[in-house]
Amino acid sequence: MARLSDPITILKGIGPTKAKQFAQLNIFTLEDLICHFPRGYEDRTRLVPIEKLEVDTPACFKAMVMNTPRTAHIRKGLDITKVTVADATGRLNLTFFNQKFTTEQLQYGREYIFYGAVSGDFIGYSMTSPVFEAVDSPPLTTRRVLPIYPLTAGLSNASVLKAVRQALAICDAPAEIIPDAVRVEYGILPADRAYQAIHEPASMQEAEMAKRRLIFEEFFVFSAGLSLMRAKRATKKTTPYATTDLTPFYGALPFTLTGAQTRAILEIAADLQRGAPMNRLVQGDVGSGKTMVAAAAAYLAIQNGHQAAMMAPTEILAEQHYASLSKLLTPLGISVCLLTGSMTPKNKTLTRDSIASGQAQLIVGTHALVSDSTVFADLGLVITDEQHRFGVGQRSALAGKGSDPHLLVMSATPIPRTLALLMYGDLDVSILDELPPGREPVDTFLVDESYRARINNFIRKQVAEGHQCYVVCPAVAENDNLDLKAAEVWAETLQQTVFPDLRVGLLHGQMKGAEKDAIMSAFAAGQTDVLVATTVIEVGVDVPNATLMVVEDADRFGLSQLHQLRGRVGRGKAKSYCILTSHNKNNETLQRLRALCKTTDGFKIAEEDLRLRGPGDFFGSRQSGLPVFRVANLSCDLATLKAAQQASARWIDTAGTADTPEANALRARIAQLFARSEGTMN
Ligand code: ADP
Ligand code: MG
Repeated sequence: MARLSDPITILKGIGPTKAKQFAQLNIFTLEDLICHFPRGYEDRTRLVPIEKLEVDTPACFKAMVMNTPRTAHIRKGLDITKVTVADATGRLNLTFFNQKFTTEQLQYGREYIFYGAVSGDFIGYSMTSPVFEAVDSPPLTTRRVLPIYPLTAGLSNASVLKAVRQALAICDAPAEIIPDAVRVEYGILPADRAYQAIHEPASMQEAEMAKRRLIFEEFFVFSAGLSLMRAKRATKKTTPYATTDLTPFYGALPFTLTGAQTRAILEIAADLQRGAPMNRLVQGDVGSGKTMVAAAAAYLAIQNGHQAAMMAPTEILAEQHYASLSKLLTPLGISVCLLTGSMTPKNKTLTRDSIASGQAQLIVGTHALVSDSTVFADLGLVITDEQHRFGVGQRSALAGKGSDPHLLVMSATPIPRTLALLMYGDLDVSILDELPPGREPVDTFLVDESYRARINNFIRKQVAEGHQCYVVCPAVAENDNLDLKAAEVWAETLQQTVFPDLRVGLLHGQMKGAEKDAIMSAFAAGQTDVLVATTVIEVGVDVPNATLMVVEDADRFGLSQLHQLRGRVGRGKAKSYCILTSHNKNNETLQRLRALCKTTDGFKIAEEDLRLRGPGDFFGSRQSGLPVFRVANLSCDLATLKAAQQASARWIDTAGTADTPEANALRARIAQLFARSEGTMN
């Protein structure tokens, strides 16, 4: 017997060349191969009589060869072989291109099983290049459910199938990790049968059952992992906060908190008094005021003698948080500092010194906070803003800078429930389901190029009323291949020819940190009228005086991304607008964009977006922080996810620390999965 960890080169037919091709698919070991699941199946189980074959619908049929195949050499590189086959119901002409040697196998008077699609018109039917097997040969490509694998150049479906089949024959499938009782309760196939059947199902139903088992398994491993993390943290002790008096903080606020904000803050205060580390997610739609909730938490940590750190996914956002939090908290005697990657080495060192000495109390920054050279004197509270931009493991990395600090995670919700369960399954949740008073929904319009003059007039009108505008472009610079608005060029055009009398700014991600800061501060201070930008402004940016968001080539963005972009306006008292431009004529695309015009409910938009784009693209091109699921589809496997979560929660209660082969195998798999998603467990 071979082992799962053995290299695939022990298989027959896999030498260095083939091994390199498999490596392209990240397949190195027998286990990788066995876990290389089909992306679909072709049902070739049923034999159809020739007269019942339907045009353009591939099917299997049994037929006798009625003449000796004839090959005509048309020109260099083109051979055409013709042969006629028949069954009791009819005849069919077959044509093969450049398959002289293959077709030599077809013998006059013998029966074969074919698989192919007929094409036909009023003259008659024919079939091009069907696959075939002799009736007495083992069913490899016909008379079976054929798995269709993800492939790479040089590697055929048949060679993957052959390799997988060999692997399954010479080594055991991955160990069973789902307890018997759970399998019975949820009607789940055992591991060995599932791994066999996903590759070689006897029927489409069996393929479905195998798939269901493997989806369940992935969710089970992941949620068991989250439960383990949670259970581990629950055993940790911290000193309960002695003071949770927020009166001075409330007194310093320029507005009254919403009911939802107050509720969240009270939930946080209760966590901090409990004597165990807090694990809390604050979820709220764009503009619901999450920053103030975080500020209250930081205030409490600092009043109790600890440091608080707030990590944001972009420098612009970190800058902005720094500006607003220091304005609010400095008068209360709190020392706020900023740490980002683009600061000068000298400034970074100075800041790090004050973090290490404990002089800095609230530290706002980017992932520079996680770097090895950042050492905290006493990190008591870790806040991650727009958490969906970070890997699941990154919040643990920052948490590792303190000794079991409290964790507060803020998410640019709404994200679909499936994703939320997955990413935040180990957290308690506070929901901000209320916007600050006086907010009117942003009016959204979808227009094409014919509206250009009107858009320009509208920008002018907003500016004349003392407001500011964003214009977001999908690209930074021009690209010959794509006909997209490029921020650099568009900013130039607007300034030079359209709005020579207005102040047009440009902001994109390829600029240096200091340059970005300067541009963003100028906009925040009202010194720029129109800011042309890329999606660097997508998350968090808060300039309440901006009332118009124009998104060029809006079809290039995901719905949730557009919702986030739209969230940059409508943050003050004045009526705000969002204009989406697109010259895309595709009906589906337009429908997608129209959906956004109709609703401002981010939750609905997120569900729709996930359905349309899948989880990989859900958060745009960036990492969503989710592990790589091989079979599970987050947009449609919600029921299985829930079942797996229930089951794994019970497993943790009863057998989380058990020393059975199953429990050990599960823990090993958890470690593997989290390593694959760059997470660290602690
Ligand atoms: P988000 O939840 O998107 O992170 P922010 O925290 O950036 O939202 O808040 C959005 C805007 O609303 C900011 O300008 C903030 O100062 C303001 N704000 C927050 N809470 C309130 C409130 N209770 N009343 C009025 N304005 C508020
Ligand atoms: Mg925010």
